[in-house]
Amino acid sequence: MAVAASQIASINPATDEVLRTFDAHTREQVEDAIAGAQDAFVAWRARSFAERAVPMNRLAALLRERSDRYARLMTLEMGKPITEAKAEIEKCALGCEFFAENAERFLSPEIVKTTAQKSYVAYEPLGIVLAVMPWNFPFWQVIRFAAPAFMAGNAAILKHASNVPQCALAIEEAFRDAGFPDGLLRTLLLAGAQVEPVIADERIRAVTLTGSSATGARIAAAAGRALKKAVLELGGSDPFIVLADADVANAAAIGVRARNQNAGQSCIAAKRFLVADPIGGEFEKRFVAGVEALRIGDPLDAKTQIGPLARADLRDNLERQVKESVRMGARLLTGGKRWGDRGAFYTPTVLADVTPDMPVFAEETFGPVAAIIRARDADEAIELANRTEYGLGANLWTRDTATAERLARRIESGQVFINGMVASDPRLPFGGVKHSGFGRELSAFGIREFVNIQTVWIGPAQTAQATPKAE
Ligand code: NAP
Repeated sequence: MAVAASQIASINPATDEVLRTFDAHTREQVEDAIAGAQDAFVAWRARSFAERAVPMNRLAALLRERSDRYARLMTLEMGKPITEAKAEIEKCALGCEFFAENAERFLSPEIVKTTAQKSYVAYEPLGIVLAVMPWNFPFWQVIRFAAPAFMAGNAAILKHASNVPQCALAIEEAFRDAGFPDGLLRTLLLAGAQVEPVIADERIRAVTLTGSSATGARIAAAAGRALKKAVLELGGSDPFIVLADADVANAAAIGVRARNQNAGQSCIAAKRFLVADPIGGEFEKRFVAGVEALRIGDPLDAKTQIGPLARADLRDNLERQVKESVRMGARLLTGGKRWGDRGAFYTPTVLADVTPDMPVFAEETFGPVAAIIRARDADEAIELANRTEYGLGANLWTRDTATAERLARRIESGQVFINGMVASDPRLPFGGVKHSGFGRELSAFGIREFVNIQTVWIGPAQTAQATPKAE
């Protein structure tokens, strides 16, 4: 099937087959979506938390009912192994239930004692939030933003990544079928370059992006020009630090998962393995064995652990990063080549003797490529961990958890997981520092990003108590 430059195409990255094409939305369709979301918002904001929770819980149930269909759609459009796709839908359902249950607790007015008769802080919705979302977790990234934003009383316009239009439309369908007011969430099929005028529209009150740092800078600039709030979840180059006293077997096993889940296409995937010298050899041996045991192949097969990358250009960029790093002296322990005769597959790869100037260290690697760097001690490991423009997550392995907690405070990242792998959890805030972005998603912090924190003061002021006179 031929794809015109102006069209948005759904392409199966495992087979290169064009599944469907869509015309980008016209200016009239964009206007219709924004106007509809604004109307829906006016009625939605007046509903109680209990009323908002009804469709939110129904959405959770519906996602579970349709898990097979939605998971298959993700696998077909962006290559995620089907087992991971089903787990993603379940995570979405849990996220909906979490915010349905906890939004009122997070957003109830808080009384503050002042000289007023009564004063308090209230949390009011902002209006329509524009969500520019990525393809790597096509359902979860949207739910992670939408469940708290909707429970807070907002509406949303979704501009999803252009390679997952079918997922984008399925998400709109799921919200509608769950009973959210018509138009409260509308999907726009637009190329990234067409987004700026939408950000500038007065009815759009805030924008949230999950995507690359380059896109983050563009969206932040556009939001700044229009004086509106932005939350940015951008790239990451998470360190995975293994100190000399760590449980090496466990660290290597979890490290393999932390790097290769979703074929390595996660902002919080472990990317740079900073391993203490005395255990370096053992870690490399165990890690490579774990990587070589991963099953690569048809992502629709439930046994597959590594599917294709989501797009051929992403695979090409990863290949460049590996080749250049090897040319600069990195030691290829396994992988380092394409796989199969079609599709955007790349074999899980491990590079050792990596140095900070190599692309696999200096740039974000968005695919199944692990860079191993030896560190003399904990101090050097922390120094290397921070030697990056990013600051999203960090993994730290040691049996001495007291020392780990002290070291964690020196790591410049939004989250540090000690003896585990970084993951998002609705109960905990998620986000980064430096070029990984700003603002937080999930938890009470996330739901308060898209609200007006409103001070209410009720007079008359009470007379200030007389200060006791000195005897
Ligand atoms: P990307 O270009 O930043 O795309 C992310 C989203 O931004 C898509 O919806 C994209 O739409 C949109 N976009 C692109 N250019 C835009 C512009 N000028 N104005 C407004 N929106 C724009 O990311 P990608 O290249 O597809 O993915 C690779 C990189 O993204 C990775 O290296 C990683 O750093 C980052 N990423 C991070 C996360 C995360 O969870 N933090 C997730 C996925 C990707 P189109 O698809 O239409 O271009």
